[in-house]
Amino acid sequence: MIVGVFGGGAVGLAAGIVLARAGLETQLIDPQGFETVSPTGEADTRVWALGPRAIELLERLGCPIEGDRVTAYQRMRVIDSGSDAAIQFGPDRLGVIVEADWVRAALIAVAKRTPKLSLHTKNGQALSLRGDTVTESSLDVSFEAVILAEGRRATLATSLGFDKIVTAQGYQALVGTLACTEPHRGEAFQIFTAEGPLALLPLPDHNGNPRVSVVWSMADAEATSLQSVDAEALARRLTQASEQARGVLTWVRPSQWMPIGQHHLNRDALGPCLAIGDTSHGIFPLAGLGANLGFADVCAIERAVSAHRSFDPGRFARTVARERRLEHLTTARVMALLQSTFVSTDPWMRLLRSAVFRGVDRIAPVKTLFQQLAG
Ligand SMILES: Cc1cc2nc3c(=O)[nH]c(=O)nc-3n(C[C@H](O)[C@H](O)[C@H](O)COP(=O)(O)OP(=O)(O)OC[C@H]3O[C@@H](n4cnc5c(N)ncnc54)[C@H](O)[C@@H]3O)c2cc1C
Repeated sequence: MIVGVFGGGAVGLAAGIVLARAGLETQLIDPQGFETVSPTGEADTRVWALGPRAIELLERLGCPIEGDRVTAYQRMRVIDSGSDAAIQFGPDRLGVIVEADWVRAALIAVAKRTPKLSLHTKNGQALSLRGDTVTESSLDVSFEAVILAEGRRATLATSLGFDKIVTAQGYQALVGTLACTEPHRGEAFQIFTAEGPLALLPLPDHNGNPRVSVVWSMADAEATSLQSVDAEALARRLTQASEQARGVLTWVRPSQWMPIGQHHLNRDALGPCLAIGDTSHGIFPLAGLGANLGFADVCAIERAVSAHRSFDPGRFARTVARERRLEHLTTARVMALLQSTFVSTDPWMRLLRSAVFRGVDRIAPVKTLFQQLAG
């Protein structure tokens, strides 16, 4: 039996390691290859907030998330610029902020020394399912089980017959690394601005000077208007929009704009094929959940392969899809609601969100639920 994992992002790599460790001959296929350079110097623009579930999985896989490029955050403060609404999480060990490329490099190092796992630098073109076997037009091999972890485009998934349902598009996120004049003290900060949610995530100090990572999500129209200003003016806008929560902000690396949106598949399992990670669910980054959800998919794979002595690909795909569906759909709904509700300037909406924030802040079980959702 050969299992094909299409997509060697962090989620596909983690899934490949889990399947090979369960004794299954696994081929991991990705066009961008598996040579990596671990980030050095100033933090990279793409960072992830990872919660306890993801951290524990990565530890089990042999990638402890620790060291001088990782920041543990103990508190999170969420405020709304249009009302007095605020929520505080912590003090507790809520999670870590870590560069996405750092996590991928650590997983590649483990994947390369995992028996039964082979890495192939190839671009999956189109898949077809005949009976119980999956073939790929450019590969001279057939697979008895396939994991689709090819990211948001989901080209292979659609070639197999999965339908991709786009529920929100026309949004972008500004990401980048900033120096700040106020220390973050391990606190993640998020403010709902008129443009959209803006997060300042704590990074390790650089030569003793504090750093934060920004993720500012907004609709294309607002993004286009901000893209016309120069880097210095953009940093001033960020300082202003973040209400100087971290003092004055200045770029230490060029910023980037990334397209964002929401989608899901009509199903996550089709015969012996299973979609996971961003292929199965793309969500707004406002609560930093995408990779966390993808790693939770891999935890479900771990449980499914250990639950049965023999590996039945169809049953395996159905079991994982069933276990994950509710969390995928709930998270997508909540993210869409937050993204749209919090940019409204309607006075009634402001009152409503103030009430919601107060409720969440005061009722401990609701707060715990929000924390669990985040990791
Ligand atoms: C601005 C922003 C901020 C974010 N912040 C957070 C955060 O704080 N916390 C968090 O948990 N998540 C966050 N996310 C989400 C996170 O980046 C994604 O959920 C995560 O990258 C998904 O990983 P993946 O492995 O599923 O997909 P990807 O990382 O997209 O990897 C897909 C892989 O598939 C490969 N591939 C593509 N096509 C093919 C093909 N045809 N054949 C074979 N391979 C193929 C690609 O080369 C790539 O390596 C953020 C996202 C954005 C945009």
